Amino acid sequence: MTNSASPKGNKITGVYCQIFGHNYVVSKQITRHIKEYKCTNCQKEVTTAPNGKLEPLTSRLKEINYEVHKLYQRRSKRQKKQKVA
Ligand SMILES: [Zn+2]
Repeated sequence: MTNSASPKGNKITGVYCQIFGHNYVVSKQITRHIKEYKCTNCQKEVTTAPNGKLEPLTSRLKEINYEVHKLYQRRSKRQKKQKVA
């Protein structure tokens, strides 16, 4: 078997994921409950949707996550300040 990693992803890992499921690892923590995941086999990206299920990470969802992450950081900073004061 020639193991050439093509940017399109190879069929064998795709089949593996279909049979055994994706091997997601957290690629980005957005908030305490929302995370972005990436499959180590086929590089597919998903994110936690508002309903708690995993959804394919589209560029639109990526944008939303980015904004939510900014808000979340700002809010947690403010909460820390309030605790100190
Ligand atoms: Zn996969």
